[in-house]
Amino acid sequence: MSDYWNNRVKNLSPYIPGEQPKDRRLIKLNTNENPYPPSPKVIEAVKNAADESLRLYPDPECTQFREAAAARYKVKPEQVFAGNGSDEILAFAFGAFFESSQKGYKDAPVLFPDITYSFYPVYANLWDIPYKTVPLRDDFSINIEDYKINSGGIVISNPNAPTGTPLPLDDILSLAEYLEKQKKVLIVDEAYAAFGAQSAVSSIDKYPNLLTVHTLSKSASLAGLRAGFAIGNEKLIEALCRIRDSFNSYTMDRLALAGAKAAVEDVEYYNEINRRVIATRERVTAALRAMGFNVLNSSANFIFIKPPKTSGKDFFAALREKGILARHFNKERIADYLRVSVGTDDDMDKFINVCGEITGEFNANNTK
Ligand SMILES: *Cc1c(COP(=O)(O)O)cnc(C)c1O
Repeated sequence: MSDYWNNRVKNLSPYIPGEQPKDRRLIKLNTNENPYPPSPKVIEAVKNAADESLRLYPDPECTQFREAAAARYKVKPEQVFAGNGSDEILAFAFGAFFESSQKGYKDAPVLFPDITYSFYPVYANLWDIPYKTVPLRDDFSINIEDYKINSGGIVISNPNAPTGTPLPLDDILSLAEYLEKQKKVLIVDEAYAAFGAQSAVSSIDKYPNLLTVHTLSKSASLAGLRAGFAIGNEKLIEALCRIRDSFNSYTMDRLALAGAKAAVEDVEYYNEINRRVIATRERVTAALRAMGFNVLNSSANFIFIKPPKTSGKDFFAALREKGILARHFNKERIADYLRVSVGTDDDMDKFINVCGEITGEFNANNTK
């Protein structure tokens, strides 16, 4: 706290990102980065962009990247918004589509699950948007009927994070249809859709209130580049541009634009590495289940696991002690779970072995 802070800053409770350890020896399975490198074409494009043109501002419209994304997803460039990572796009979208509370008057709350990406409540607080969390079922699935109430809009991550649970496209579209009658927006965060969920992109022409949000951080191995995009009706995209241009006209730099364009064009490379991530995920899921772990079915590049007979906190600490970094959320309902990113096959073999060791040690201590 400081006397110099205004009330907005005093009232913020910022998102706490997963640790980026300085210790290189840790096997890093905590922030869902892709274990495989970006496409060689991306590296080449970024290198080629690192020339004297950096003297000049980048294209504020991000035209070439947007055209490449539009071609890939079979939409119009005017239906694509480009941004500095999808977190930024989500922040803009909350500001663009959800009503802030005003003196003496609160709009109906925006809805999202009680267990989901923990940035959503942070954005709502930043913009002073009233929100309500809707409990997932006991099996951590979403019951869409719970969302069919008067609301200010809905945000769904598909697949959900940190559970990895997908929602069928029919359910997403049913929510879009319901909200369309209320003239409210449905934001679908498709950060992990490439790993197995059904994308809603092909329905944006049917639902003018449907915004899908995408990132290159996970499925395109570019967390370090900071690039994302959103796809939706032209009018939704225009609203995002209005927010951006009231904030920073140049959110994507020349290097990021070049790399992002090359990434969305190299479908073949990314299909291959993500197919490997999915295969590893299925293998690790089966191995852990055989060891008595509860592992949710995941459609993402991470798994959500509950170790047998140990608290999530203790298991997290034991993993770290043995050189493996996972993610633990100190939150009701999921405190006994860990989220583990899917790494290379080598890293995951080590992870499975270490899980066996720790479980054995805990068992030994319990029977002493
Ligand atoms: C990682 C993640 C994002 C943000 O990705 P950026 O790196 O900001 O593009 C958005 N939503 C979810 C659910 C995520 O897990």
